[in-house]
Order: sequence, then C-alpha cells, then structure tokens
Amino acid sequence: RARFDKILLDHAKDTGAQVLEEADVKKLIFDGERLAGVQYQYQGCRHEARANFVVDASGRAGLIAKHFNLRKMNNKLQNVAVFQHYKDVVAENNPGVEGDVLFSCHEDGWLWGIPIETNVMSVGAVMPLSLLKQSNPEEIFKAHCDRSPRIKSAIKGATPLFDKPKVELDFCYYSEQFTGPGYFIVGDAACFVDPVFSGGVFLSMLCGLKAAEAIHEIFDGKDDLEACQDFENLCKTGYDSYFRVVYSYYYEFNRDMNKMGLNLPGGFRFVLQTFAGDFWAERDQPVLSYLRSKKEWDTFEQPFERIYDCPIYPDTHYKAADPASFTPPEDFLESINTQTQTETQKAAVL
Ligand SMILES: Cc1cc2nc3c(=O)[nH]c(=O)nc-3n(C[C@H](O)[C@H](O)[C@H](O)COP(=O)(O)OP(=O)(O)OC[C@H]3O[C@@H](n4cnc5c(N)ncnc54)[C@H](O)[C@@H]3O)c2cc1C
Repeated sequence: RARFDKILLDHAKDTGAQVLEEADVKKLIFDGERLAGVQYQYQGCRHEARANFVVDASGRAGLIAKHFNLRKMNNKLQNVAVFQHYKDVVAENNPGVEGDVLFSCHEDGWLWGIPIETNVMSVGAVMPLSLLKQSNPEEIFKAHCDRSPRIKSAIKGATPLFDKPKVELDFCYYSEQFTGPGYFIVGDAACFVDPVFSGGVFLSMLCGLKAAEAIHEIFDGKDDLEACQDFENLCKTGYDSYFRVVYSYYYEFNRDMNKMGLNLPGGFRFVLQTFAGDFWAERDQPVLSYLRSKKEWDTFEQPFERIYDCPIYPDTHYKAADPASFTPPEDFLESINTQTQTETQKAAVL
C-alpha cells in the first residue's frame, strides 16, 4: 500500500501538482458558507491554501465530515479488527500459494492473512465489538488465529512487528453527504465498509477520480449542483452496493463465502462480477437486484438516484441480458465444498 501511494504521489507531481508531504491540515477556511481552503502546518509554520474546491481525502480522520457532523456509525456492522504484522514469514509454512491472500472464517468472525512485502504478512481478526470487550486484544487475537489452521500455520516461526496487536475501532460508518459548497469528500473520509471483500482502496480511488472529473466538468461550465449530485449518486450507489454484499455475507450466509458464491441468484459469473467490485451493475443484474430488493439493507436515509454504469469498464462488463453464462465445472464445486468441510472440521477440533 505504501508503494502504491508513492506511485500515485509521484504521478501527481509529474503531472504538475504541488505535493507537500508531512503537511498537517489544522483548520478549514470558509468564505461565508462556502469552504474556500485549509490552514495547515508545514515544517513548523502555519500556511494557508485557498482553492475553488477542496477534496477531503483524509481517510478515517474525516476532517470535513467531522466538522459538519456528517459521520454516522453503521449499527448493522459493529465489528472491530485486531491485527498484527509478522516479519520473517517462513514460506514452507504457508499452506497456500506464495503471494495469495489467506482468508478464514469461523463462528465468531473471520481472519485475513495478506502478504504485504516479501516475508512480511499482515494478519487480522475481525469480530464483534462485544466479543473483544469480554477479553483483551492479545488473548483474543491469539485465540482467533488458533482457530484458523491456515493462518496458524502461515505465522508459525514468524516474528510479530508490533509490541501488541493493534485494534481498529469505529469500524463502519457513512456520510449522508459527499459534497457541499466548495468541497468533495472521497474514500474513507466519507464511508468505511467492513473490509471483508477488500473493496476499500478501489472505492476510495474511484471516488477520488470521479471528484476530479466532476471538478473539471464544473470548470468546463457544467452546473455545480448537477455535477455534485451526479458524483454523490455514483458514490452512494457504490457504497450502498458494497454494504449490501457485506450484509449478505454476515446475515444471510453466516460468513461463508463459498455458500455466497453458490447460492446468490444469477450464477457464478454475476457473483464474481459483484465480488470483483462492479457495484454499478444494471437493474437486471441478478445478484445486485436481489441484494437491492432488501429494504432493511438500505444504508443511506436520504433517497438517491442509482447510477447504472460501470465507471471502470462500461463496455466490457457482463450484462445480465447477455445470453452466455458461466457455470463452474463440477470438480471445482466439489473441491471448494471439501475445503470448507475440512476447515470447519479442523476448527471444531481445535
Ligand atoms: C483493518 C483494515 C483492513 C483493511 N483491509 C483492506 C484490504 O484488504 N483491501 C482494501 O482495499 N482495503 C482495505 N481496507 C480499507 C482501506 O485501507 C481504506 O479503504 C483505504 O485506505 C482508504 O483510502 P483513503 O485514501 O480514503 O484513506 P487513507 O488511506 O486512510 O489515507 C488518508 C490520508 O490522509 C492523511 N491525513 C489524515 N488527516 C490529515 C490531516 N489533518 N492533514 C493532512 N493529511 C491528513 C493520512 O495521513 C493519510 O495519509 C482496510 C481497512 C482496515 C481498517
């Protein structure tokens, strides 16, 4: 992730942006009601930057959302993550293929094992907040890792990088507003969804890209309000769909991704399309139309207009009306069923 951020930063510099690293935004500057810039601390001094539009990409800090009190916690997903990084990971202990992401689920949560550098792995356990409250981060993290034979094996002999496992609280939240006079809010600064399907970086990038496009359109003469509304509708469609996928994982399929793949309506290709991040599929796309039919899984209280256009691959993504469909071969289905049983049986024994 750090390397990826550096690539983006260097690219911004190469294309003419003035980039200040280690500058800390302290205050928002207003012209009347309109956000007109920021005050920031840089190399020990206070500075001001004024602009026609401010894009808030401050992540969980959420400067604008917090200033206007826009952030709402998502009460349907009251989970926390307890995580640790390990160095000197022993390749032979990895039960999977080098470079693959490991994923495990059990009755009380799920775990990730993500290689972040050669021989370094991030391991996290996601669980209900209520469970963490009954224990402490060290104990519960160990207990949850022990319940996953794959993760337990992957970190055998590796060295933890932090003194203690870290805890990420305030897990899932959303903002009802993504724009306002003079500003756009993108990525985690606006919304944070449980990371089980790893959609966070993608959605953040997409919102950033679309905010830039909206600002260009305004400079080219598009009506401010219309550009902001289109941007907000697109972001809300994306986050609303992603939240639904996550609700179905927790509430309908009891944290079993294999079951989701096999049982969501529409067959494998549309499940894959959705899992891969096409959250803007047409009305007749079976997986999303099913998930969207569940009123109780609405996230945003204010009505918004859904945008049905894949913002990344508008011409090449699967359309529900396409006659071709993809059904996985029998032996593939058998293999994932067997794997699920084995994992569950092992977890039960442990
Ligand atoms: C436990 C956990 C696991 C996750 N796993 C995954 C995963 O596997 N895949 C995935 O895609 N996503 C994952 N995510 C989500 C992903 O990390 C976020 O969605 C993504 O990083 C959001 O990007 P962002 O640019 O909006 O915010 P961030 O990456 O948080 O960047 C915000 C930046 O703003 C800066 N900033 C904050 N305040 C100020 C200030 N006052 N002045 C100046 N700068 C400021 C910060 O220093 C930071 O550099 C995970 C998240 C968590 C918590």
